[in-house]
Amino acid sequence: LGRRSEALDRGDTSELRTASRQAYLEKRKKMKVEEMQDEIIDNEFIFDGVKMTNAEEMELRRKKEIYDLVKVSVGKDADADAGDYYRMPDAYDAAANVDQAKRFAVQRQRYDDPEAAARDGKRSNFFSEQEAWEEQQIRKSRLHFGSDDGGRAGGGYELVLEGVVDFVKSTVQAGAEPDGEMDELAEAIDAKVTLQRELQDERKNLPVYKFKDDLLKAIDKYQVLIIVGETGSGKTTQIPQYLHEAGYTAKGKKIACTQPRRVAAMSVAARVAQEMGVKLGHEVGYSIRFEDCTSDKTVIKYMTDGMLLREFLGEPDLASYSVVMVDEAHERTLSTDILFGLVKDIARFRPDVKLLISSATLNAEKFSDFFDEAPIFKIPGRRYKVDIHYTTAPEADYIAAAVVTVLQLHVTQPAGDILLFLTGQEEIETVEEMLKQKMRTFGGKMAELVICPIYANLPTELQAKIFEPTPEGSRKVVVATNIAETSLTIDGIKYVIDPGFCKLKSYNPRTGMESLRVEPISKASADQRAGRSGRTGSGKCFRLFTEYNFRNDLDDDTVPEIQRSNLANVVLRLKALGINDLVSFDFMDPPASEALLKALEELFALGALNSRGELTKTGRRMAEFPLDPMLSKAIVASEKYKCSEEVVTIAAMLSAGNAVFYRPKDKLVHADTARQAFHAGNVGDHVALLNVYNAWKESGYSSQWCRGNFVQPRTMKRARDVRDQLEALLERVEIEHCSGVGDLGAITKAVTAGYFRNAARRQKDGSYRAVKSRQTVFVHPSSGMAEVTPSWVVYHELVLTTKEYMRQVTELKPEWLLEIAPHYYQRRD
Ligand code: ADP
Ligand code: MG
Repeated sequence: LGRRSEALDRGDTSELRTASRQAYLEKRKKMKVEEMQDEIIDNEFIFDGVKMTNAEEMELRRKKEIYDLVKVSVGKDADADAGDYYRMPDAYDAAANVDQAKRFAVQRQRYDDPEAAARDGKRSNFFSEQEAWEEQQIRKSRLHFGSDDGGRAGGGYELVLEGVVDFVKSTVQAGAEPDGEMDELAEAIDAKVTLQRELQDERKNLPVYKFKDDLLKAIDKYQVLIIVGETGSGKTTQIPQYLHEAGYTAKGKKIACTQPRRVAAMSVAARVAQEMGVKLGHEVGYSIRFEDCTSDKTVIKYMTDGMLLREFLGEPDLASYSVVMVDEAHERTLSTDILFGLVKDIARFRPDVKLLISSATLNAEKFSDFFDEAPIFKIPGRRYKVDIHYTTAPEADYIAAAVVTVLQLHVTQPAGDILLFLTGQEEIETVEEMLKQKMRTFGGKMAELVICPIYANLPTELQAKIFEPTPEGSRKVVVATNIAETSLTIDGIKYVIDPGFCKLKSYNPRTGMESLRVEPISKASADQRAGRSGRTGSGKCFRLFTEYNFRNDLDDDTVPEIQRSNLANVVLRLKALGINDLVSFDFMDPPASEALLKALEELFALGALNSRGELTKTGRRMAEFPLDPMLSKAIVASEKYKCSEEVVTIAAMLSAGNAVFYRPKDKLVHADTARQAFHAGNVGDHVALLNVYNAWKESGYSSQWCRGNFVQPRTMKRARDVRDQLEALLERVEIEHCSGVGDLGAITKAVTAGYFRNAARRQKDGSYRAVKSRQTVFVHPSSGMAEVTPSWVVYHELVLTTKEYMRQVTELKPEWLLEIAPHYYQRRD
């Protein structure tokens, strides 16, 4: 690494598709099963229900591994200070900041105290950040009084306070004229004006700015326009503003701009609101599932592609929009592909609507072909030279390799931020933790590394961090999912590290099972990723695979999502729009007919379609909920079982994310006990989620309660939002609010009405056999049913980690299957 590999990889026929991944899997296979389970716990942190005997040991071992790896890469003298921390070249000593040096002084002192040393040694050998912080707080709270005469005159004394009181200077001085206030106000206004001026200058510097007039002319002339430009040229943030300025939002019409990802929709809307100097949600807003940040004033609306798809239900001609911009079209998400067909259709009978299809790749002919030879508008981008570096041999473990590479670049490369691509939240959190730990061991010997994670579920308040300028003298490392490939533009990136993998949905139409798998990326993706480093100057991209792999093993393009998805949701949506003949729907790339059939079958089994393939009343109601058809069905069925209140709560909890509980490492027992209380009576995971929600509600939605019960307040707040919206939808589809307090059988039956195909039966060896797919599956260790092992269960979903696990499991009576889904299950006598 760090050197361009000169020849192809010695004709080695190993494939990247398998090589790096396989090596990684091999290594994991060698580990004992129990260890692997512990490893999962480690990675998941928020993970419950399993006794974690080996975890800490594993963690130490893992840290040791990285330690050893970095030691090799940094230099032989790394062991200098008895393994406590590394000696870096003198230049880094010089760059070390003073506070850090003090921290080391304190640490040395501590090691004079054998007890403290032993304690620290047992923990991790390193002076933790927590301790440093405490130390600092204690120092801060010591106020010195009296003159500095060192005790000669009766002795200076020290007042030790608990905590610190912060004071803020009043803006109005007592007795003074309110002039001071005016000054400060004027200052604040000045600052705002300066910021606005800077933002407007920045806008003018974007590549798209030079083409503003041409672009507006082209949009005026043609109904459909394909727009192509490098990531960062200003397509997403600028074009809607140009259209707004040019009058496309007059007469109460809006501009829609779709994004494949929630985070992108939110972040871009926030940026544009700032550029226009308006409050987010007023003139500029966003709409994503379960979160509508728009108002009557909104004229520029960023939204996920899935949300625009939903809007067709209420407004089939999208009459309130004058322009629809399908952005990031190259991503070819499921919803974007469906949108293509729908917007092409409305363009035919609405000559006043403008369609913009914008994309980052240069492969735009395909879009043009689909939209009846629509003209292509190219925005010549700035793309500086990017040097590509490959590894000389496949990497066995791309996580470890990525961490080492980050540190290596940090130590050896001139200023410039780093962007590292990983496949998901779990990996990102692991790497973040590894890097932090590493930096702690380096102490002040290395310039600061600001670690910024970014993934879809990252809380909004933390997302903004990636856009903040890097402080002088430090380096930022953005650890991101695919979201940073094209959807978000982060300035200042000079180095890209690309392990060559991403998480992709794959679908097996035979079993009807969808799963997320870590797969090698395509050549197009790899080039997009590399390009992120060359936006503002020449850049470098470090690929953690070989050049041979790149040339021979990567596909040219990623298969569109529509060809690797369960289509039940899409088919239901289209049927609800009155599109009955799916085979002749205008798909850019049609899905496999097998997958379409499977979806029809699934919807028929759920009672959403009749035998002629037409939408039933149940199906119409199901389509109103922005949920998976099985979950929608459970809600619709709850009417019959008189427990809509409960089922809506369960649906909200299931939709709010998997991170309901957490287990701090120092309070494992407390956390587990708290958790088990919700499972009292072996009620199953669905009812346990209900119990958590209801207990939280009774506490007055208190965060205090969450902390006391080791429940994530953030997940709960989200569940409450989701629940409110689902409840409003109940009214819309006229399902009565009813509560079958205490009737757990009714609740389970309603859940089963949606999930009857997710039934599994226990086998002699304690594993389960999934009825639908005939696969061997296991109860996820986080489940309250993990030790109960009833003979029949219904599960929410399957996740593949080390095995196929059922997540969210509840006991089932087999006769219920016959009662609830007689068309699907028959008694075998
Ligand atoms: P494109 O859609 O062509 O990839 P964008 O319109 O997304 O380009 O980005 C243009 C510029 O706007 C970027 O270079 C970046 O500097 C800035 N920008 C975009 N989003 C944000 C944000 N959320 N915060 C700060 N700057 C942003
Ligand atoms: Mg964009």
